[in-house]
Amino acid sequence: MYPIRDFLSRSVVEYEMFDTNNEASLPQNRPEAVSRIGNCPAIEFPDGQFVINPTLEEVAAHLGWINKPSYEEYDLSIYGAGPAGLSAAVYAASEGLKTILVEREAIGGQAGTSSLIENYMGFPDGISGAELAERARQQALKFGVEILLLREGIRGSFHDNRIHVQLKGGGTMVSKANICATGVEYARLHLPGEERFFHRGVYYGAGASEACFCGGKDIFIVGGGNMAGQAASYFSGFARKVYMVIRRDSLSHTLSDYLVKRIKGISNVEVLYNSEVAELEGDDELSRIKITNNKDNTDKWHDTSKLFICIGGNPNTDWAIESKIIRCPSGYLVTGSDLINHEGFKNSWQLDRLPYHLETSRPGLFAAGDVRFNSVKRVASAVGEGAMAVTQVHQYLAGL
Ligand SMILES: Cc1cc2nc3c(=O)[nH]c(=O)nc-3n(C[C@H](O)[C@H](O)[C@H](O)COP(=O)(O)OP(=O)(O)OC[C@H]3O[C@@H](n4cnc5c(N)ncnc54)[C@H](O)[C@@H]3O)c2cc1C
Repeated sequence: MYPIRDFLSRSVVEYEMFDTNNEASLPQNRPEAVSRIGNCPAIEFPDGQFVINPTLEEVAAHLGWINKPSYEEYDLSIYGAGPAGLSAAVYAASEGLKTILVEREAIGGQAGTSSLIENYMGFPDGISGAELAERARQQALKFGVEILLLREGIRGSFHDNRIHVQLKGGGTMVSKANICATGVEYARLHLPGEERFFHRGVYYGAGASEACFCGGKDIFIVGGGNMAGQAASYFSGFARKVYMVIRRDSLSHTLSDYLVKRIKGISNVEVLYNSEVAELEGDDELSRIKITNNKDNTDKWHDTSKLFICIGGNPNTDWAIESKIIRCPSGYLVTGSDLINHEGFKNSWQLDRLPYHLETSRPGLFAAGDVRFNSVKRVASAVGEGAMAVTQVHQYLAGL
């Protein structure tokens, strides 16, 4: 059920939810529907269709979102609909490029999971990441971008001055230029049982859709960065108590000053310093976790059914290995002047000109946002790089 709720929330689709195990919460006017559900999630869509245990693809299709490209070839394909990809899509289409934006999950990327982005210019009271993303989606559609949801680029090949990207599940997307804006994937703790409890008490990032299930509970957030700090602040409005588990002895190394002050002022948020989660336990669902304090070498078990892991991420760029696209040792795509001194660049780059600032070691393949080596890891910079990449795409296309 969590993946569906998360997908709908991040896509800013309004929904009402009923717990079939709690008769009092069930809609009185639909007894026949409820009796058919059993223990599976089921959705009634606005057009009256009732689907039991739908896949995300079915949900997207019912909402009218597409997952097949309409054209054989595009001027520009963009992978990843986080802030960088959305911004690139808006600028590219508004400047007349035939553009397709491919997203493997929900629109908005990491930013889409943020309950409140407070440092993005123009929103003095902050804006939820999902709302910001939805506005960008509408803007992109207005300019004619084709958005392909729940599809993933998995391999690229480069010939005929075109980029041919193989999509997971079949099909190839052809474009003259490409912007890779695939951000980062949440890092795991790599604890025994972590996979088993995934969406059953263990969550990566801090999906705002889970907040209403935290009422009266003690919840744990691992990480001391802005992602974790925002989550702690937001969940404190729902949970009985929020614990932030951090390895360091201070938040100020990793958290923005405004969030440090906020966290310190919230009475039901407690920071567990010098600490890490060491073990997970439960039957079907997570029920308790062991936290080790590395300073005094003590262990303590805590009862909880909610553990949010907010420890940043790694770029998902293994596909680039096969195409020999230059990455840094951590996997980020290297672009522009950072390529010049890179081992292997002189042998692979065959053009008279140098790579553009956001161009990778493959001419016509650009990287924008968090996936790029040396990027700033902020919404505003991802948006800026998306727009900047489009300008460089124009320069590249003009030289073809
Ligand atoms: C909870 C949270 C709160 C944050 N708060 C702030 C804040 O307040 N202020 C701030 O400035 N920054 C904040 N950040 C950081 C900010 O969100 C990121 O820096 C920003 O989202 C990066 O944008 P991006 O477009 O580069 O990548 P991402 O947002 O990571 O988006 C990448 C997208 O690409 C998709 N994708 C990946 N691989 C593929 C593939 N092969 N094919 C198709 N699609 C693919 C992913 O599903 C994802 O949707 C926050 C991050 C989080 C997680």
